Amino acid sequence: MIEIRNLHKSFGSLEVLKGIDLSLEKGKVLVIIGPSGSGKTTLLRCLNLLEMPDAGSLQLGETSIEFDGRRKADKQRVLKLRQNTGMVFQSYNLFPHKTALENVMEAQVVVQKRDKDAARKRSMELLAKVGLSGKEDAYPHQLSGGQQQRVGIARALATDPEVMLFDEPTSALDPELVGEVLKVMKELAAEGMTMVVVTHEMKFAAEAADTVVLMDNGVVLEQGSPRQVLQNPSSDRASQFLNLLT
Ligand code: ADP
Repeated sequence: MIEIRNLHKSFGSLEVLKGIDLSLEKGKVLVIIGPSGSGKTTLLRCLNLLEMPDAGSLQLGETSIEFDGRRKADKQRVLKLRQNTGMVFQSYNLFPHKTALENVMEAQVVVQKRDKDAARKRSMELLAKVGLSGKEDAYPHQLSGGQQQRVGIARALATDPEVMLFDEPTSALDPELVGEVLKVMKELAAEGMTMVVVTHEMKFAAEAADTVVLMDNGVVLEQGSPRQVLQNPSSDRASQFLNLLT
């Protein structure tokens, strides 16, 4: 489902991704961990082209793109690739003046041109799926952080993406609200959604990941099953990072 080859990204003179190779099969969960500043979020944002890579290639579902910093990537392919992903942000990024239902409806109506009744029906289903039936008419400020993030997940699912991307989805939450968001993510994984998750939640990585990737300083330091990477890493640098967490 996802194939990343030799991906590079710099911001000015700062090289943040130094040649990333990764692949992920359909229905699998990839969890990206690593120290702050190692390039995790940048890699995730490159997957839906919120950041445009400088070099390398990316395949997502049927769409593949080669990057060459000197030329603009093909616009149609960029759009197609973006539409095939759903992104969940650390800070939820809901529209504050729209209700939960309207937030979930928005992209379906505006981007996908779905008719309003169909979009409303789908949004009600998705809000029920993330445990928010009865909260359709609430505004973001009337919801807890955990509830807002679950609206964020419903919104990302609403355009029927093949891949869901999560950027530290629980980092902004009070500890007691983390579980309800991880539960929804685990349910999605169990249903066979292909997911890439940047997180500091090691328990989630251990329980839900098929593959764990440990990034450090713009490269993939370790890649393997949760057991391999979290319990038996091959490099000292990885052991150091994991020891710091315990
Ligand atoms: P992580 O998610 O692992 O904490 P990031 O991908 O957010 O790492 O950041 C990696 C590095 O890239 C950091 O040094 C960060 O300051 C820098 N960076 C990220 N985004 C930008 C940007 N838009 N402009 C300039 N530097 C950036």
